[in-house]
Amino acid sequence: MSANSPNPVLIIGGGIAGLTAAVELADTGVEVVLVEKSASLGGRVARLHQYFPKLCPPTCGLEMHYRRVRENAGITVLTLAEVTGVTGSAGDYEVEVRVRPRFVSEACTLCGDCERVCPAERPDEFNYGLGTTKAAYLPHGVAYPAAYAIDRAACPEGCKACEEACKYQAIRLNAQTEVRTVKASAIVAATGWKPYDAAKLEHLGFGQCRNVVTNVMLERMAAADGPTAGRILRPSDGKEPRTVAFVQCAGSRDENHLPYCSAVCCTASLKHAAYIRALYPETAITIFYIDVRTPGRLEEFGAKVQHDADVRMVKGKVARVEENPATGDLLVTAEDVLANRKSTEHFELVVLATGIVPETEGLPAALKPDECGFAGKNGSPGIYAAGCVCRPAEVSATVQDATGTALKALQCANRSVSHVR
Ligand SMILES: Cc1cc2nc3c(=O)[nH]c(=O)nc-3n(C[C@H](O)[C@H](O)[C@H](O)COP(=O)(O)OP(=O)(O)OC[C@H]3O[C@@H](n4cnc5c(N)ncnc54)[C@H](O)[C@@H]3O)c2cc1C
Repeated sequence: MSANSPNPVLIIGGGIAGLTAAVELADTGVEVVLVEKSASLGGRVARLHQYFPKLCPPTCGLEMHYRRVRENAGITVLTLAEVTGVTGSAGDYEVEVRVRPRFVSEACTLCGDCERVCPAERPDEFNYGLGTTKAAYLPHGVAYPAAYAIDRAACPEGCKACEEACKYQAIRLNAQTEVRTVKASAIVAATGWKPYDAAKLEHLGFGQCRNVVTNVMLERMAAADGPTAGRILRPSDGKEPRTVAFVQCAGSRDENHLPYCSAVCCTASLKHAAYIRALYPETAITIFYIDVRTPGRLEEFGAKVQHDADVRMVKGKVARVEENPATGDLLVTAEDVLANRKSTEHFELVVLATGIVPETEGLPAALKPDECGFAGKNGSPGIYAAGCVCRPAEVSATVQDATGTALKALQCANRSVSHVR
């Protein structure tokens, strides 16, 4: 870095927002340090089967970002890393970053021997707990960085099977956590979102009824590299469902849970209806909704799916979901506002369209949350937030937001150099 170069911009979160901010900033010549807490980049988008409205695989957009990250020497990526402290002021922050060991070096060739010999299983967090992975795991099929990682918390005491099996000596089970101090001119927090905890919606049966799943779980089932290899199956018996109900606003627009609209769930459920109808043309879909919100350019997509005669829209709130223990089928009691009646119907699978909750753990204190818990856009000068941690949004709006935020960070970085001159 020359005397006239600003300190790097530090970005927290390597989802689509953080990646976008990183590549756009680095393209202007500013150095970037991208801090991601999981073992790979891509965030929640990497876990989608297809993007609405075009229904293309998310890898299209993500691969382009990964290539730009790979080809730009000005971007340093730290995975398994979290910010643990920020001091200083705009232009001259000192950021403490804790980097947990991956236990697998760049010598990894993805041969998979470590996974084959690993005796331990852990919950598959990438697949929202649907199934397990070995403690020696590849985050997912198109992960960046493309390297295995070892979850030491899941390893049996004293086990060294993976280290001994690795013919490239890529595994070091005694690697230690590092604490680094990174100089930064500006900080962009893009820590994204997490799904609302469906277990809190007791009346909707998640965790009590075997065939009640959430929208993010359905997304993973539909993915070819997911836990059911692209088939949407009932958890209780592995059967392809012939009737599926979607419960919209599962948590959202409810003062007892999330008082706001999560913005993407209506379009996501219509996308899920399209997945199911394409896979199983004989399966009928019912969507229970309060209002159908498919704003802007998503309107055409939403209307197209609703045009399908086997996608039935029922305006009304679901009061209760119960299981018939003999069959695993669900009894859904709901009101139909337009028909002015209450009914109880049988379905073979129920999908809860759970809302978006901002992921604020690890956010710099300067970014004060608003009344709904989302981060404010600007903290103290030089600290900004981007993407779904600020508000629920689909990918294109997230990308636009992150690009705008990158500009704010660039201005701050440039100001710090002209100030020094
Ligand atoms: C069911 C569902 C389906 C959807 N389908 C679509 C769709 O088809 N099309 C569309 O346009 N949008 C869709 N969306 C919306 C889309 O998922 C979001 O727009 C997108 O994920 C926002 O990206 P982000 O980078 O802000 O957050 P995220 O994707 O959540 O990424 C945040 C990243 O930050 C990391 N992180 C979190 N905390 C820390 C920390 N403390 N330190 C370091 N790293 C951290 C996370 O590990 C993650 O990698 C869907 C949403 C839902 C709920």
